[in-house]
Amino acid sequence: TTTAVRELLLSRIRDVADHPKPGVVFKDITPLLADPEAFAALTGVFAEQCVRHGATKIVGLEARGFILAAPVAVSAGIGFVPVRKAGKLPGATLRQAYELEYGTAEIEVHAEDLAAGDRVLVIDDVLATGGTAEASLDLIRRAGAEVAGVSVLMELGFLGGRARLEPALRGAPLEAV
Ligand code: AMP
Repeated sequence: TTTAVRELLLSRIRDVADHPKPGVVFKDITPLLADPEAFAALTGVFAEQCVRHGATKIVGLEARGFILAAPVAVSAGIGFVPVRKAGKLPGATLRQAYELEYGTAEIEVHAEDLAAGDRVLVIDDVLATGGTAEASLDLIRRAGAEVAGVSVLMELGFLGGRARLEPALRGAPLEAV
């Protein structure tokens, strides 16, 4: 990513203090989505990563990951697979639980959407604690597929997501724009 593109993209992320609860700075990507030049530039960055890592499928993480990943899949000419919060997908699923700050959460993927031979790039907007991305890598491998990498728009470094994700990456790249 060139400095100019990175600056454009980061300038279109809005910091919202105390959302959804006090003390959290929410990274709002809606200004980026509303700017066609920035959205196209981000799609291009992710699509280039798909090619570079030989991805054959793209997983988007609900919900903002869906918005970012779908145009990448079309642009790269490969399939899009949603990883959703538990209970939303209608077909036969694989389900994975993971730890949150308080309690646990569960995500799911349609079992038939991923198979041996697939190389999967995971896309999301923000890597925070890394718990969601880590659980998605478990799902991908349980489906028999391989992890091509994890790509996010931005990483909240102070939450230590990269360190948490490291063992689950097994050498696959984690890239932030
Ligand atoms: P985590 O599992 O902690 O890495 O959380 C990742 C998910 O929560 C991502 O799908 C993000 O969209 C969302 N998220 C967590 N923290 C923030 C934040 N400060 N701003 C925007 N999204 C966030």
